[in-house]
Amino acid sequence: MKIKHSEFVISNTDFNKCPKADKPEYAFIGRSNVGKSSLINMLMGRKQLAKVSGRPGKTQLINHFIVNNEWYLVDLPGYGWAKVSKTDKSKWAKMTKDYLENRENLACVFVLIDSRHEPQKIDLEFISYLGENRLPFAMIFTKTDKQSPNKSQSNMAKFRKALAKDWENIPPCFLTSSAHKTGRDEVLDFIEEINGE
Ligand code: GDP
Repeated sequence: MKIKHSEFVISNTDFNKCPKADKPEYAFIGRSNVGKSSLINMLMGRKQLAKVSGRPGKTQLINHFIVNNEWYLVDLPGYGWAKVSKTDKSKWAKMTKDYLENRENLACVFVLIDSRHEPQKIDLEFISYLGENRLPFAMIFTKTDKQSPNKSQSNMAKFRKALAKDWENIPPCFLTSSAHKTGRDEVLDFIEEINGE
């Protein structure tokens, strides 16, 4: 898919205030610092559509972008901030769950996973939650330029093996690097395929 246009629409903390659910929607979520903003910018071919920051404690918002006037890209707040208070964690949980469990045009949730690490409990738990709620998802393994291709493949294989305990069919997995712009066509073509269904 070619990205002809991408534009920020709205940020909010309440899924009821999201844009009208009249187009397919793809949400991106993952542990804080996983490389979500960089990936969104890489996919959209923009330098600063989503903000990039290594700093914890960013405002937790649901951010909508419209792409090619055909679909919404949603930047969801990251999970797993080490320094976030209990109150903020429960605010995150409520806002994100309300969104995920009620957004009727949600076509796929992309769960971002850092390809440098072996399977992490927090990511596996989030995926179990998606499964329990029958939410369609795919996995994106980020920052593959940071180690050898073998290491990324092996961490992805370990992750798939961990999921195989609970899942008969493991959802699609993508290996990406925002620094090297790899995996872009694969993710965008996957979205195009779902849009065409
Ligand atoms: P977010 O908190 O998940 O939105 O993550 P960011 O996109 O802000 O990235 C966190 C840090 O990882 C920043 O310092 C980025 O420059 C870096 N980063 C993100 N993606 C990549 C990547 O593909 N390769 C490399 N080498 N660094 C990356």
